[in-house]
Amino acid sequence: MKTETDVRLSETGDEGSTGAGVGGAALLDSAGVQWVLQPRGTPRVRGPQHFKHSVREGVRLADYEHVLGADAQALKELFPTGPARLWGATPPSKKDGKAAAIAGRRVGDEVLFYADKKFVASARILGLFHNQALAKAVWGVDEDQKTWEHIMALGEVVEFDTPAEPILSELRLPKTLRSLTLVGVEGRRRCLRLVDRSAPVQPGRNDPPPGRGTTLSRDDVFRALSNLKMHTKEQRPSRHKPITLLWAIGRLAAEQDRMVEWQTFRDEVGPLLRDFGHPDSRVTPEYPFWHLSSSGLWDVEGLEDRHATPTPSKLTAARASAGLKRDAAKVLRRSMARAEAIGLICSSYLGDVDREEILERVGLAGYTSASGELPDGGGSEGRVPRRPGTYSRLERNQQLVESIKTMYKNECQVCGSRVETRYSHYSEAAHIRGLGSPHHGPDQLSNLLCLCPNHHVEFDRLAIYIDEEWAVRRNSTGDVDYQLKRHAAHVIEQKYLRYHRGLCGRL
Ligand SMILES: [Zn+2]
Repeated sequence: MKTETDVRLSETGDEGSTGAGVGGAALLDSAGVQWVLQPRGTPRVRGPQHFKHSVREGVRLADYEHVLGADAQALKELFPTGPARLWGATPPSKKDGKAAAIAGRRVGDEVLFYADKKFVASARILGLFHNQALAKAVWGVDEDQKTWEHIMALGEVVEFDTPAEPILSELRLPKTLRSLTLVGVEGRRRCLRLVDRSAPVQPGRNDPPPGRGTTLSRDDVFRALSNLKMHTKEQRPSRHKPITLLWAIGRLAAEQDRMVEWQTFRDEVGPLLRDFGHPDSRVTPEYPFWHLSSSGLWDVEGLEDRHATPTPSKLTAARASAGLKRDAAKVLRRSMARAEAIGLICSSYLGDVDREEILERVGLAGYTSASGELPDGGGSEGRVPRRPGTYSRLERNQQLVESIKTMYKNECQVCGSRVETRYSHYSEAAHIRGLGSPHHGPDQLSNLLCLCPNHHVEFDRLAIYIDEEWAVRRNSTGDVDYQLKRHAAHVIEQKYLRYHRGLCGRL
């Protein structure tokens, strides 16, 4: 098995362990893990589609029952409940590095998927199979009528984006990875630090954005918002797209049209880019006007030539207009989705921007706090819904306020402390989904918490949030501060906590 390539790449000397393992074999401990560098394949050979289909999503074994053959048992043991994640290699035509990699890889090894000069995912080999019929059924055949019959069953799939160049160069491999390559234990160990997995990629990242004429679901909209592709300068992603999206959402909140003519766009978005973009970045509203189309959420109308970025004068001449797609606007007109989207955009892309300031500028001021804006700007006890016929009247149900305080004996549900007063104790009733605009939460017990003044402010100003397991977490770090105290008779509705988490950018 020791071809020249193998000697160069596989420095482990750790041969002799089982070559082609079978499904269910015990994983090697990480000390003996090799790397299998695996080109994902170009779009021409349907690489991205194959990856999405059989690795990211995985295949249903039940759909391939007829071709599993002798591997049926082992595969079912590996993937007893969920989808089977599989990837394959066509048979090597000669004794080259690829042949060595197919023969030398082992159960427990780590696979790194390569595409476009980057490593884009890693996975663990759970089993190795040679099954032509299964490969044909899952991936078909290539131009040479070959199929990907040397199959890896995969677990622990993680997607990320890390430059391949430093790793390939450290391993003295060509700049572009063209074929399956095995890297020995030592080589992997040396390069592990070069793999940056810190920026996990949301599933769907490599999918083409939804095309024209397709309908966008709520999930599609959020997937697209999580995966904005941004122009990056000196490793700093431009803020133009997220700023523009906030502006567009602000228009929806104000019930304005979603489509805007270029000149209006320029006059409104330009100053936002100037004030909230990176200090040294140029103010070029024509960029987001045009390039947001790649998000799949954005329409540009009135332009014939759809290839080059249009100049401002061309946009003016064409009277071009742009805005959120009809479906995206429909999703984002709903208050719950809107709160989540704003939280997501602010926390994912605009972490360094003063949130209160930018939201105020785009007409979304109420979203900087959980309570919302109050008609009378009242204090902590004066959160008032606007009701027809009333102006600045305190309309919250005082009986509910009293009952939640009594239920918890004025003890804060977060920290358990209670503020002592001369004759009694003091606590505050906090709405989870605020009563004020734009939240319009309900005034009911299932939407209320009993909090001390400090935690009320922290909750309201989105410094803390409550997760699905009732842990109180700090929004800046995600760390658990406390476990929320709950009275047996107090039903708190998760949907309101979810709304609050959305505002926190924590969904
Ligand atoms: Zn407290």
